[in-house]
Amino acid sequence: MSLADPVNLLGYDLRGLTALLAGIGEKPFRARQLMRWLHHFGEADFEQMTDLAKSLRVALARTAVVEAPKLLADSVAADGTRKWLLDVGAGNGIETVFIPEVSRGTLCISSQVGCALECAFCATGRQGFNRNLSVAEIIGQLWWANRALGRDARADKGTGERIVSNVVMMGMGEPLTNFDNVVTALHIMLDDYAYGLSRRRVTVSTSGVVPNIDRLRQECPVALAVSLHAPNDALRDRLVPINRKWPLKELLAACVRYLDSAPREDEKPTPHGVKWQRQGAPRDFITFEYVMLAGVNDRPEHARQLLDIARQVPCKYNLIPFNPFPDSGFERSSPEAIRRFQEILMNAGLIATVRKTRGDDIDGACGQLAGQVKDRTRRAQRRAEASA
Ligand code: SAH
Ligand code: SF4
Repeated sequence: MSLADPVNLLGYDLRGLTALLAGIGEKPFRARQLMRWLHHFGEADFEQMTDLAKSLRVALARTAVVEAPKLLADSVAADGTRKWLLDVGAGNGIETVFIPEVSRGTLCISSQVGCALECAFCATGRQGFNRNLSVAEIIGQLWWANRALGRDARADKGTGERIVSNVVMMGMGEPLTNFDNVVTALHIMLDDYAYGLSRRRVTVSTSGVVPNIDRLRQECPVALAVSLHAPNDALRDRLVPINRKWPLKELLAACVRYLDSAPREDEKPTPHGVKWQRQGAPRDFITFEYVMLAGVNDRPEHARQLLDIARQVPCKYNLIPFNPFPDSGFERSSPEAIRRFQEILMNAGLIATVRKTRGDDIDGACGQLAGQVKDRTRRAQRRAEASA
């Protein structure tokens, strides 16, 4: 740590903080204390970290900062869904959405500004890719949510559930193309000294970056959702273009590998405070997301093809009514079409849920996040120019 270049402590998992503090002669338990202050208590002021030695607090104040993205806007929908717009510089905003339910509170967080993958029905993809979010910007979304949701962690010492019980990486961006930062942020989410989330309650959603599905399994297995959206390669090539690189056969094989080794409940904590030693999928199924697009992928024959996929991969289907946006070229399937589609899956004994549309009045739906902020690569402008 040096004066010229203060480090942002929100960018480090326990292993990283331990190494940072070792550099100024501090023992590992200091890193655990610091982790707890930063994340469990959401404290940004070193002076308040009263069980740290005064000399360490002074050293930290000179060389480090605790810097989450700045809050630009905070809105609450009629149904209680809450959305924060955070500033990540250069006129870019990212959005984080909190969805309260009776038995859980789910935070939907972003991993990139924009996305490079250009799925046909996605507002984020339409904006193009700007950049990866840093670890501090990813974890900063959870840090903010915990603070803004009014949980004064100090009053909560050792008691009660946290308000955010689940995290889904279903905001802007493709988490598995920002792999290292996402994995470090996942470590912080899972760390008992930080947020202590169960890895069954942290979900990474991917459009199908096959090699990094394998890496995730090895480095930090959490619950996995895969954006399937089409039951065959011809249609998936069109809707989710990354399918041309890693087609269904390869994607489904990666899903099977991901589920391959089950975790043991009796595993001891690792030195990093993570609750397991052996790596393995925390759940015994993959969640397949399937956006319902009228007349495109919502016919009974598509549902029947999904039955065949379910024979290859233990899975649940989550049917997502399409969230329309201007010039998307798609329409949401009718409630009747969605019901019929769901019935075909359920009659075959599968679990198929239909995602409730939440926070509609604040554009709090997946694929809509920061949709109005800007066109990141001027792709829309180029498209308009080309067609003029
Ligand atoms: N890039 C990752 C995670 C972010 S998108 C992924 O693609 O999985 C989160 C989910 O929202 C994905 O399943 C995505 O396909 C879906 N989605 C994107 N645009 C949507 C839209 N307009 N309506 C409904 N769901 C959408
Ligand atoms: Fe990117 Fe996911 Fe949108 Fe596809 S659906 S463009 S991978 S954010």
